[in-house]
Amino acid sequence: MMSGLGDVVKGAAQIAQAMGVTLKYATRRPVTLEYPEEPMAVFPRYRGQHMLRRYDNGLERCIGCCLCEAACPTGAILVEAAENDPGNPRSPGERYAKTYEVNLLRCVFCGDCEIACPTEAIVLTQSVPMPQRNRANFILTQDVLLEPKDANLVIRPDS
Ligand code: SF4
Ligand code: SF4
Repeated sequence: MMSGLGDVVKGAAQIAQAMGVTLKYATRRPVTLEYPEEPMAVFPRYRGQHMLRRYDNGLERCIGCCLCEAACPTGAILVEAAENDPGNPRSPGERYAKTYEVNLLRCVFCGDCEIACPTEAIVLTQSVPMPQRNRANFILTQDVLLEPKDANLVIRPDS
């Protein structure tokens, strides 16, 4: 008999304790985010989606040297270089990247490409890659990667 009453008291205490936890979290702000509508806070050293940078004069920093491709541990980068037209160069070097692609499905965001690049052309931004339904959209082409899109715009110091 005593054991039955003890169980009831113990059960009621456990229910009260559980309700206390429920009430405590019911009054807190939810930790979920309405991403991508709501921006997501990232740490200063967060490595997100890639960007191919230009110089202030609009020329592409990438000289097609393929060092980033060689440094990438997962084979996520494809670079095809071509000779610059001296009358209308795309980069300050002899060559430029005719094709530059990053496969986000392979990328592990290690930053090795950024470290290997002699001209600081490829950088990892703090942009969080967007979810995609189509696998092809995970291949970032030069059009997507090059910033600023307009060669006459400057978005960051040339350093
Ligand atoms: S961050 Fe790492 S894995 Fe991703 S493309 Fe650069 S080198 Fe390759
Ligand atoms: S991004 Fe940098 S390392 Fe990669 S090909 Fe261009 S210049 Fe070379």
